Amino acid sequence: MAKFPCQNGEPCNRCGGCCKIRENFRMDVVDELTIKQKVYARTRVIYLYPMNRYTISLSHEEKARLERIAKERSVSISILPKKVIYDAVNDKAVVWDWFVDHDICPFLKGDNECTIYEDRPEICRMFPEIKNEQMFEIQEFVKNIPVVDLQYDVLVERARKSLECQGVLPIFCK
Ligand code: SF4
Ligand code: SF4
Repeated sequence: MAKFPCQNGEPCNRCGGCCKIRENFRMDVVDELTIKQKVYARTRVIYLYPMNRYTISLSHEEKARLERIAKERSVSISILPKKVIYDAVNDKAVVWDWFVDHDICPFLKGDNECTIYEDRPEICRMFPEIKNEQMFEIQEFVKNIPVVDLQYDVLVERARKSLECQGVLPIFCK
């Protein structure tokens, strides 16, 4: 049974479900690692955080827009890297997209009102349709990046360090 009315084709009743953005799901750690390893093998995408931390995906432009609006309105928002493409041979990580690191979207207020409705991200406009057309783009992007045989936590640490050194993650590069 669908979780929200819109998933049954009914009009939006402003239940706010799609804005309470962190799913409270649990996954076996071994299963999660297996999935992450398979994703890396197919796409060179590394996930730096546990999967249950991730929320809606933002493009680079959407991240900049939401941060700008949040600053203008004195709204506290944390946006972190979601898909990170890591080239282990050249030790270079690139952020493909971002996620809003909150249980509930900081722009949801009052009676489940989106306070940035005109500026909301594409994923919010599409919901409950979630199109994932990025796979081909990512595979094209990584076609010359080889898969390396390293433990996943080593890949995560190297990718994280690369982002820190580029100033993408706010930790001093040693
Ligand atoms: S679009 Fe969001 S707020 Fe509207 S019914 Fe669906 S889950 Fe609820
Ligand atoms: S931007 Fe608006 S529609 Fe999107 S999750 Fe936040 S409150 Fe909901």
